[in-house]
Amino acid sequence: MAINVIAEKCKGCQKCIKACPFNAITMEGKLAVIGPSCTSCGACVEVCPFDAIEKTDEAVHTADITAYHDVWVFAEQRDGQLMSVVIELLGEGRKLANEIGCQLCAILCGENVDDLTAELIAHGADKVYYANMPELKTYNTDAYTKTIYEAITKYKPEILLLGATHIGRDLGPCLAVKCGTGLTADCTKLDIDPEDKKLRQTRPAFGGNLMATIICPNHRPQMSTVRPGVMDKAEYDKNRKGEVIALTPTFKEGDIRTKVLEIVKSVTELVSLTDADIIVSGGAGLGGPEGFELLREFAKKLGGVVGASRAAVDSGWIDHAYQVGQTGTTVKPKLYFACGISGAIQHLAGMQNSGYIIAINKNENAPIFEIADYGIVGDLYKVIPAIMEELDK
Ligand SMILES: Cc1cc2nc3c(=O)[nH]c(=O)nc-3n(C[C@H](O)[C@H](O)[C@H](O)COP(=O)(O)OP(=O)(O)OC[C@H]3O[C@@H](n4cnc5c(N)ncnc54)[C@H](O)[C@@H]3O)c2cc1C
Repeated sequence: MAINVIAEKCKGCQKCIKACPFNAITMEGKLAVIGPSCTSCGACVEVCPFDAIEKTDEAVHTADITAYHDVWVFAEQRDGQLMSVVIELLGEGRKLANEIGCQLCAILCGENVDDLTAELIAHGADKVYYANMPELKTYNTDAYTKTIYEAITKYKPEILLLGATHIGRDLGPCLAVKCGTGLTADCTKLDIDPEDKKLRQTRPAFGGNLMATIICPNHRPQMSTVRPGVMDKAEYDKNRKGEVIALTPTFKEGDIRTKVLEIVKSVTELVSLTDADIIVSGGAGLGGPEGFELLREFAKKLGGVVGASRAAVDSGWIDHAYQVGQTGTTVKPKLYFACGISGAIQHLAGMQNSGYIIAINKNENAPIFEIADYGIVGDLYKVIPAIMEELDK
């Protein structure tokens, strides 16, 4: 299906613009123009008083994808600091760009964060598209979407990668709708089809019970969000050279519909599972919230942090910010202790790439032992104090 505006009949009343739930219609003079984010829902057809909009059976519009090139990474920054997932995406983006034979670029929005352009180049970006504006100082959906959408329209990236952070998960879908393209969320693996050079985006599906590989064959850019902690970080080379291209978006009244009045950091943001070298996670086997006191003491001795399974979170023993797994955080510490955790596939999805996995479980047949490097069969309330005693010695 497609939506067409009959130019001779359109009077420029703009009723269709108000009716469109996808913000897909703009005015060119007195003529309504249907944009790429149109889903052919037909809301505009119904409200047009002049019968100037029609729904036709025309085949789905297929964009000219040959003009698109390069791999882009959204360089998410907060308070002038790049998020660690950006460095991971640059690492992955470099592999993809090499396979396709194109350039790796970063797109950076902010105010006076010029030093980050050098950091991005040192981590592998050949080009950095940089929008330096007061409106972009802190993340704002409208301002960031407009800036990046305009850059995409002008420079036409083939692939756009974003971190599956709160910001990436907000920005990604907005951009995908505006560009009229697809977005695969929460990818755990990306690779290039050797035959047609298209991006293969793999993510867990059906509750993590199988992995789905998704392609975006007819629209560009091919867009993915990737969870922090999944991909390997790009190498740093301060001698790398790259190009910085200034973006100069303009904002008129009404373009930015929300204003950031204050930023209040929640306590949960202080949990940095993705950066931790050592994680001591507890599950239903703890038997109650007091079990986390023991784990905190253990983690402190090891210089690590505490994590949790969903069963422990769902029981209300610990905040969701600590949850490791498919619907929690994906982690890759050097050392991961799974204490009283059975090893459900959804938990494994978030920690199986850890350097060393040590499982403590009183059931010798618990599936966690299948992926553990070291397994201790026993009651965690006896095993952990015994380990701590040894550490004290
Ligand atoms: C869509 C979906 C998404 C999900 N996302 C996640 C996710 O992100 N993260 C996640 O963790 N789960 C997730 N789950 C839930 C997951 O399927 C499991 O239910 C959950 O991981 C089980 O947690 P657990 O291992 O702590 O509890 P259980 O499976 O109940 O295991 C408890 C373990 O503790 C052991 N134990 C008991 N007492 C002791 C003791 N004193 N000492 C030593 N061992 C003891 C038992 O032998 C047992 O193996 C998800 C499920 C679905 C359907």
